[in-house]
Amino acid sequence: MMIGDGMGLSQISSGMYSNNNYTSLERSKYVGLIKTHSSNRLITDSAAAGTAMSSGVKTKNTVVGMDENYKPLKNILEICKDLGYSTGIVVTSTIVHATPATYYSKVKSRYQYEDISSQLAQSDINFFIGGGERYFNDRSDNRNLLTEMEDYFFATSIETYKNSKSDKIGYLTSYDDPIEKHKGREPSLPSLVEATIKKLEDLDKPFFLLIEGAQIDWASHDNDPKHMISEMIEFDNTIKKVFDFIENDGNTLVVITADHETGGVAITGGDLLKSKVKNKYVSGSHTATMVPVFSSGYKAHNFKGVYDNTEIFNKLFEIVNQ
Ligand SMILES: [Zn+2]
Repeated sequence: MMIGDGMGLSQISSGMYSNNNYTSLERSKYVGLIKTHSSNRLITDSAAAGTAMSSGVKTKNTVVGMDENYKPLKNILEICKDLGYSTGIVVTSTIVHATPATYYSKVKSRYQYEDISSQLAQSDINFFIGGGERYFNDRSDNRNLLTEMEDYFFATSIETYKNSKSDKIGYLTSYDDPIEKHKGREPSLPSLVEATIKKLEDLDKPFFLLIEGAQIDWASHDNDPKHMISEMIEFDNTIKKVFDFIENDGNTLVVITADHETGGVAITGGDLLKSKVKNKYVSGSHTATMVPVFSSGYKAHNFKGVYDNTEIFNKLFEIVNQ
């Protein structure tokens, strides 16, 4: 499951035209569109949209992994884990940010970061990578989750991550939010995803992996095309790695979508031959436009069409439960 946070068609198109008119999404077999609204708002946030896709229920904005009445929901990662799958999460935000949190946490507010990291500590996810070390070892309750999580190896570099033979590894890539791609964020998302897929393969079980390109959203909130395009191109390079795996494996599904569009971006000019685009934004926030769903691999045809974001969960559930 790959989520480009805030990744609407203009973000994808801007990345594509800035990359010699090519996107790895051209390798997708099927395309669909999803409606993104939350249960109480036309314009969703990442918590409600993430919950809809991870757990199949529309909820209120800011709610993570619970329905409107705060009843906890079982998400697709947990369902896969119970079925014997290995699991992983790799993101370019903090690991406790709303989108990844909807795959392991249940809290009333996405901003309960210390509660979310405590729940991650109990989640049994095999491999997780993202920023936000402060929510583990610099907490208001003085707990240190890094020492409490005794069965985990904590990597401090991509080399130690790759070299560890542990089947449970956390890699917290920054103290707080990871920096912007065009300002030099390393290790790259494609390299982290490639290493994680290899680890999941080595465990020799079916696996569920969530990958999020989080800062496409942040850049679009800031109406910052330079940042936005750098994040889109990195996400696209990650999609390339995933397609390389999917096409070789033949028995794995990839679904690539967004939780919502951000910024109401348009492409109002540019130069095709120079791979340059000019963007205009109509908002500093999210918009309610439908977002695309790309799919390839096992049963990928199930994801074509126009439907609600909750169907992403239902369709995945149907596939893993057969
Ligand atoms: Zn946002």
